[in-house]
Amino acid sequence: MDLKELYRDVILDHNKRPRNFGRIEPCDTHAEGHNPLCGDRLTVWLRLKDDRIEDVRFEGKGCAISTASASLMTEAVKGKDIPAVQSLYGRIHSLLTQQDAVPDASLGKLAALSGVREFPARVKCASLCWHTLNAALERSAAPVSTE
Ligand code: ZN
Repeated sequence: MDLKELYRDVILDHNKRPRNFGRIEPCDTHAEGHNPLCGDRLTVWLRLKDDRIEDVRFEGKGCAISTASASLMTEAVKGKDIPAVQSLYGRIHSLLTQQDAVPDASLGKLAALSGVREFPARVKCASLCWHTLNAALERSAAPVSTE
């Protein structure tokens, strides 16, 4: 199996069986995100302890890439502190936008998102959950839009 097939299988698996799907009630903070380009909508819910993400869940309707990306994100950020989440976000952003960015081993399954940059119209589908997570961490009341 080549890397492209492996990446595709990770996306398909996380779209079919999204991890951490649902809401957290009561939560410490949540935010809504919308990608009008594709119609993806999601809400990210967080429970925080000090500056650590103790629990994270998401809900919403969107395309396979937005759902898989949110599922992968929740797995990756659960238990991490906010500086570690911000550093991960930076690496995902480069992976999605720089053609020559090579996924490093610490990204784990998130490396599957590197396949998305071959489809520039879908980059916003993959980054929506990260923008929404950021808004939740900043406790911003306004819904996020990728436009
Ligand atoms: Zn989408």
